[in-house]
Amino acid sequence: MDLISVVVPCYNEEESLPAFYKEIHKLTKKMESVNFEFIFIDDGSKDKTLPMLKYLHRKDKRVRFISFSRNFGKEAGMLAGLKAAKGDYVAIMDVDLQDPPSLLPEMYQTVKSGEYDCVATRRTTRKGEPPIRSFFARMFYKIINKMSDADIVDGARDFRLMRRKMVDAILSMQEYNRFSKGIFGWVGFKTKWLEYVNVERVAGETKWSFWKLFKYSMEGIMAFSTTPLYLSSIMGFAVCFITFVLACFYAIKKIFFGDPTAGFPTLICVIAFLGGIQLIGIGVVGMYLSKTYLETKRRPVYIIRETEED
Ligand code: UDP
Ligand code: MG
Repeated sequence: MDLISVVVPCYNEEESLPAFYKEIHKLTKKMESVNFEFIFIDDGSKDKTLPMLKYLHRKDKRVRFISFSRNFGKEAGMLAGLKAAKGDYVAIMDVDLQDPPSLLPEMYQTVKSGEYDCVATRRTTRKGEPPIRSFFARMFYKIINKMSDADIVDGARDFRLMRRKMVDAILSMQEYNRFSKGIFGWVGFKTKWLEYVNVERVAGETKWSFWKLFKYSMEGIMAFSTTPLYLSSIMGFAVCFITFVLACFYAIKKIFFGDPTAGFPTLICVIAFLGGIQLIGIGVVGMYLSKTYLETKRRPVYIIRETEED
């Protein structure tokens, strides 16, 4: 029998956990021809998530859990789950039921048939999301797809079912700054996209503030594109060129029309403009340098405090 591992990152999810467990329990009843294991990652929750997971493990041995020593973020949670998964197929799913478990049988059939290595999902609407957030999200996808060669699909969720080969490929990418949406695309493999209408959270609140999402998007761009570095050089060249033209213009003006001293405001503007450009350039280089710095430290992506085996 095939084993499907379901990886579920959880951060302060005491409210949605019971509903989620009920759903997947129903699902396993429907899919009796496969074995399941559920790997819950407690990402340093401060509520009752961990005690609840311990309770579920006592009740149902298919439930496994990994508890982090503090909050390391969803990316770290997914990585820990993929590493721990023993299944022939591995799914990643949110605990808030925004990733409908009812899609899993169809996903499994598709991957099992051998034509695809992975079934991924994307939502076609962003209903129930603040409009400003949707706007920035759309812009982010446009920009990152222009800048990088990893194919990152707008509206793609992390909800997917993958064949073992693909999971191993993902685990072989040992970067510290992980941006899964990029990594999934970068490893390639044949992916089928399932579309569904956005579902709202069953309970609790989203764990992503606008600022957190903004930082995450910057990480995504830096992890999968070096275009900003080129852009700052191009900007430097452009400004040099403009300055050269300007210098010629003033020289000619001086020769033919004399030079009544003026232009103090122009001077200030030019100095401030150049200062700004230089700061942007240094900032961009700095961002990449900081990422490189973190990569070279080779720190672990997460630290485990306890698992169900303890
Ligand atoms: N999550 C996590 N660590 C975090 C933030 C979120 O493990 O630091 C989990 C969370 O419990 C949920 C999933 O990631 O299962 C998606 O989070 P959320 O629903 O808050 O994001 P949204 O669906 O609003 O994008
Ligand atoms: Mg959610």
